[in-house]
Amino acid sequence: MPFKRNLHERSVYQEPAPIRDHDDPFQSMVERFDIAAEILELDPGFYEYLITPSRVHITAVPVVQDNGRVKMYEGIRVIHNEVLGPSKGGIRFAPDVDIDEVKALAAWMTWKCAVVGVPFGGAKGGVRCNPREMSAGEVERLTRRYTANLIDVFGPDRDIPAPDMNTNAQIMAWILDTYSMHSRRTENAVVTGKPILLGGSAGRKEATGRGVMTVTLAAMEREGMRPDQSTVAVQGFGNVGSIAALLLAEQGCKVVAVSDISGGYYNADGLDVQAMIDYVEANKGSLEGYQQADKISNDELLTLDVDVLVPAAKEDQITKQNAADIQARIIAEGANGPTTPAADDILNSNGVVVIPDILANAGGVTVSYFEWVQDRQGYFWTLDRVNRRLDRSMRQAFDNVYDAAEQYDVSLRIGAYVLGIDKVATALQMRGIYG
Ligand code: GLU
Repeated sequence: MPFKRNLHERSVYQEPAPIRDHDDPFQSMVERFDIAAEILELDPGFYEYLITPSRVHITAVPVVQDNGRVKMYEGIRVIHNEVLGPSKGGIRFAPDVDIDEVKALAAWMTWKCAVVGVPFGGAKGGVRCNPREMSAGEVERLTRRYTANLIDVFGPDRDIPAPDMNTNAQIMAWILDTYSMHSRRTENAVVTGKPILLGGSAGRKEATGRGVMTVTLAAMEREGMRPDQSTVAVQGFGNVGSIAALLLAEQGCKVVAVSDISGGYYNADGLDVQAMIDYVEANKGSLEGYQQADKISNDELLTLDVDVLVPAAKEDQITKQNAADIQARIIAEGANGPTTPAADDILNSNGVVVIPDILANAGGVTVSYFEWVQDRQGYFWTLDRVNRRLDRSMRQAFDNVYDAAEQYDVSLRIGAYVLGIDKVATALQMRGIYG
């Protein structure tokens, strides 16, 4: 009797919620928000409004596994804010996804969209699962059922998902297809980051890494650093880290270290990033066994004597434990939330320039916006046009954040929060509170 077994032996959700051994990411967001709110002298009612997620959806996602048994997963979609437009944000599949993390990530999407001036609100989704232990069929069934459960939440004018950690163009194609089957017509603007053949945009896959490169170069210019005399370490070798590493190397930087879940890889003479990308492709997505480098630990990578550090893996990597040991002059946050607020203080007092996540990794959602525009017009741009517009937008956003930081004499992170929150609060003021 499978029913009885589920009731008595297992909780409803089979992946237990992890106990966090680090800061709560939503709290990390609020701590930065508070500093910016004080600078902006934000009305207390608006303060409450802007930190409160507009809607939180938690949905049980049953999946028939390849062995014929049913397994339950927890699916989450948080709509943080829709003041500037339909909500936008990725979906991640990971074993440690939880509600506080998704709430934080959704809020960061709100500020991120506002900072780069795309007309979207913020959202984020996640399913607590380990896709590495699942077959392609199981991942597809999980994706389709999660989408079907949230069919009234998603929509080209409502809420538009995109890839994030462990999700990709194929998974977006399944979301597109499931949504379209329900609405009885092909709705390609319901997701971004999908395959080009299905209405995806040229350059979307590379956009986040490209944006990281653009703002890093802008910061180097301001700091009087030359790319061809600078060394770089990149934590994380997924879609963001690998492309950021490749493009920074193309700009003349020497990429001396990268890491993935198999560990860190260091070569003082510079790594051949393209060869490593090819290696990962041929090696089941991992750098494990890569020979043209010395093996180092994750902690060693973060504290290497380099000019630029790109944390492009996950949250809470730079903490009060290791922040004082960081030697890089510039940190460009490819990941969302890689630095804790306590670490911010240490980095600031050591004069490290941190290009914050809500600016540094905003290239992805910027090209997501371009993709959505192209889908709705049914007219597709060349790669050159996408990249030119992306570069222009990232440069402009960097300058705006830099100017705000100077004006209020704060870090780039707080400058970015001030800009983003001010925009959303002003729009809220214009729209007014219905009721
Ligand atoms: N997941 C990406 C992010 O965190 C992209 C979101 C999107 O394109 O909607 O910015």
